[in-house]
Amino acid sequence: MAEVQEFSPEPGALEWETPLYRTALAQYEQALPHANVEELVAERLRYPERALVVSVPVKLDAGRWRVFPGYRVQHSTVLGPTKGGVRYDAEVTLGECAALAMWMTWKCALLRLPYGGAKGGVRCNPRELSTDELQKITRRFTSELLPIIGPQEDIPAPDMATNEQTMAWMMDTYSMQVGHAVPEIVTGKPISLGGSLFRQEATGAGVVMVIIRACERLGWSLGEQRCVVQGFGNVGGVAAAELHERGARVVAVSDVSGGVHDEHGLDVPALRRFAAERGSLEEFLECERVTNEELLELPCDILVLAAREDQVHGDNAPRIKAKMVAEGANGPTSLEADAILGERGIVVLPDVLTNAGGVTVSYFEWVQDLGRLFWDRAEIRAKLADQLNDAFDRVWKLADEQGLSLRSAALVAGIREVSGALTARGIYP
Ligand code: NAD
Repeated sequence: MAEVQEFSPEPGALEWETPLYRTALAQYEQALPHANVEELVAERLRYPERALVVSVPVKLDAGRWRVFPGYRVQHSTVLGPTKGGVRYDAEVTLGECAALAMWMTWKCALLRLPYGGAKGGVRCNPRELSTDELQKITRRFTSELLPIIGPQEDIPAPDMATNEQTMAWMMDTYSMQVGHAVPEIVTGKPISLGGSLFRQEATGAGVVMVIIRACERLGWSLGEQRCVVQGFGNVGGVAAAELHERGARVVAVSDVSGGVHDEHGLDVPALRRFAAERGSLEEFLECERVTNEELLELPCDILVLAAREDQVHGDNAPRIKAKMVAEGANGPTSLEADAILGERGIVVLPDVLTNAGGVTVSYFEWVQDLGRLFWDRAEIRAKLADQLNDAFDRVWKLADEQGLSLRSAALVAGIREVSGALTARGIYP
């Protein structure tokens, strides 16, 4: 079996010490020998530059007060302001944000966007909170972040359980503090506030653009592929719809409540309407129900992981039947699983490349906001396809030339961009 490097934390790494940060760091260590980076620069990039831990007091609808922990981690400001999502989830921790921020750095650099990585979130259970409570959390959390966010400092975006409305509240809270409208403080906001056309669909559509490019390289016809999609939210719902529209057979999809399966192919638009109306797939009983564990192991050609981290691990990786795994979510494949899938000849399209459509159109949104000049949908879609195809081709070539996995090649390409810039700038003072 391929060697999985262990990470033994230095004293400075202890703050971030969580399984996800260990995964992000171990991937970095695996890529480093191929990236040709000076040791001082390599060491600098092992740590996030800055992190803020806050507590968010909110009066709940029932009249009770609760204080929620919140985090924002900025990994690297070498190439520009930091960029990254805000998630509301019961498992958000400082270490999780640090891992996701580091991946954002490599992703932005791989796509040649002038950003570094950040990530943040509030530890809460969003499904138990009302819209009013979520608004209070968002506004207070934004106020707490004011010292470190800004259009030239750090630009938040939606992630798990946050959406356009969350970004509208963040934009309003920030704008009220500075005294004028600042649309460029967040991306993924409503079109009426300076949001970009195609941002909402960009991550899921980008996942499918990368799958199509990979199929072309492998000589596979998309129309002949049976697909399974885990996660039916912003990323998975759009990816399933795009696959369906392009003629692939989507045989199973799932959300946190479990999955639905039909070997003959699902009616994805009908499922999306159902999920939009009912809030989940839970009550969809018109075809076979499967658990999320069963869904991952269904016979299929392409498995899209678009729910959350650590879904394919050492236990289930030997039973994955797909020929290709596309990571729409961040970190859905553990280190051990990655090695097992690689040995089994399963093509893994890595998260830093595959889900980069979201941050790329976020970048387009920020540029449009700064210029107060807006582009049309076709132009944005075409620019996104160009940028993803260019990144894909660079990754494919590097993997081929150096005998690397696509993940290592994507990380090496990203690390090289950042380390080149950091070497040129030098470490202050
Ligand atoms: P979302 O909240 O819109 O959707 C998440 C989906 O996953 C929901 O259908 C939810 O029910 C499901 N889910 C949650 N826990 C699950 C579990 N344990 N098992 C199965 N399904 C589960 O979130 P999203 O924006 O679609 O993000 C999904 C993933 O994609 C996250 O890892 C996120 O970091 C990543 N991502 C999102 C974007 C973006 O633009 N939204 C960009 C890049 C990466």
